Amino acid sequence: MGNQPLIVLSDDSQRTTGRDAQSMNITAGKAVAGAVRTTLGPKGMDKMLVDSMGSVVVTNDGVTILKEMDIEHPAANMIVEVAETQENEVGDGTTSAVVVAGELLAKAEDLLEQDIHPTTLAQGYRQAAERAGEVLEDVAIDVDVEDEEYLQQIAATAMTGKGAEGSKDLLAEIVVRAVQSIADEDGINTEYVEVEKSVGGSIENTELIEGVLISKDRVHENMPYFVEDANIALIDTALEVKETEIDAEVNVTDPDQLQEFLDQEEAQLRELVDKLVDVGANVVFCQKGIDDLVQHFLAQEGIMAVRRVKKSQVKQIARATGARAVSNVDDITEDDLGYAGSVAQKDVGGSDHIFVEDVEDAKAVTILLRGGTEHVVDEVERAIEDSLGVVRTTIEDGKVLAGGGAPEVELSLALRDYADSVGGREQLAVEAFADALEVIPRTLAENAGLDPIDSLVELRSQHSAGDAADGLDAYTGDVIDMGEEGVFEPLRVKTQALESATEAAVMILRIDDVIAAGDLAVSSDDGDDDDMDMGGMGGMGGGMGGMGGMGGMGGAM
Ligand code: ADP
Ligand code: MG
Repeated sequence: MGNQPLIVLSDDSQRTTGRDAQSMNITAGKAVAGAVRTTLGPKGMDKMLVDSMGSVVVTNDGVTILKEMDIEHPAANMIVEVAETQENEVGDGTTSAVVVAGELLAKAEDLLEQDIHPTTLAQGYRQAAERAGEVLEDVAIDVDVEDEEYLQQIAATAMTGKGAEGSKDLLAEIVVRAVQSIADEDGINTEYVEVEKSVGGSIENTELIEGVLISKDRVHENMPYFVEDANIALIDTALEVKETEIDAEVNVTDPDQLQEFLDQEEAQLRELVDKLVDVGANVVFCQKGIDDLVQHFLAQEGIMAVRRVKKSQVKQIARATGARAVSNVDDITEDDLGYAGSVAQKDVGGSDHIFVEDVEDAKAVTILLRGGTEHVVDEVERAIEDSLGVVRTTIEDGKVLAGGGAPEVELSLALRDYADSVGGREQLAVEAFADALEVIPRTLAENAGLDPIDSLVELRSQHSAGDAADGLDAYTGDVIDMGEEGVFEPLRVKTQALESATEAAVMILRIDDVIAAGDLAVSSDDGDDDDMDMGGMGGMGGGMGGMGGMGGMGGAM
């Protein structure tokens, strides 16, 4: 054996081990939480994100901020995934989930410094999360899912702080009606609620269309603007002369032959239109193009036609009107047609839209969202998406929790009790978990400009006295029964957030060796940030041109 070191990694790879690896990952995770922290709650602030192409997003939505940020650090990305899971599973609570995950890491850091082993920590965190799930089930309130007032309050809570304040009641009502309309025996798929944005007017002009709205105009100007009792043909291929399977070359030797050839094509197109007329269609939605001649023939027959309808909207139309999309017009039958009481072209905010309405029991609906500017409309759309998610979840589960930090304070107290029954060092981890949860009420207070200590003390005392639904009214600063204020969130928003936050934190804590094929801390242009403390920051440079400008970051480092 020589003294030559054995090299198994390539020159470019970078390896960080032990405490350094842990602290690098924890820092990165905390930085992600810090980035969204100031947006939490009704008084949370918004962020303006500018990408490398200069396009701007102004948002309060946790998952949107993190997606736009172009985060590269692998541990930071694990926290971003927490937000994404939350978004996919329930649609709301993304900021809370990330903030809790960050705080779990921060509390773990203290314990690691006291030489508590990461696996002990992980074990304690898991036990705490499991117990927390049970406690939440206990304090959850059963709701009557037929009770629209409840549902509207839940819908409104999810929209708080997201630019929809002034019209919250109207939007909440629309969201609830939309979700109720699309529910069927298979459950609720919110994909069938389409949100069509149109800049102009005010949010108050937003309306629910019980049917489909297509942002196109009819394909030929001689077609009718309005069709009553519409029999709708849905076609997912182009309406044109069929291409031959093989490459054919036609040699034309005299002008008559050419004319004959063209006549043949025309006859073929005529046949397409005749077929549609025969089955009784008076409206045609085509997913692909429509040949000029076909347009002309359709117009002659008084049929309204729209081309290049998006695939997703073809699905919507099928669901709303009962039409079946056909690929070959030769095979179309009367049964394939859908029905709508009215199909009409109307002007919305200066551009033409086709409204497919008056359908019996619309199982696909459209929210026509209006608002002063594009950024406003985009943000309200995100609020509506969150809101659709919580209404769906509530109808599915029938269980809600009071908001405003109430569940977190309740959990925190319950977990401190529980910690006494957990022996060994895991007890410390359970206590750390209990402390970490208080980050939610603390942050709600901070963002509302209140004193977090005062608020927490009062919350704790109310909960110790048995008021499990007491939370922080971010507007007045009082600790009140959130149920009376109508601030409710689905139980699953909290249980999902806790589960994913715990899993991500535990996964990050258990890592003690980071072997990267390239440089981890790169992607910042100045190239001088190779010290580990900057790991989280440098890795997040990406499209944002360095994160230094983000207010929330400083606090987390
Ligand atoms: P998230 O992405 O986690 O949903 P939000 O910015 O929507 O983040 O904030 C959610 C938090 O705000 C929850 O803890 C919720 O209970 C709280 N909240 C919502 N509405 C109110 C209100 N009117 N008063 C107090 N807290 C509220
Ligand atoms: Mg929310």
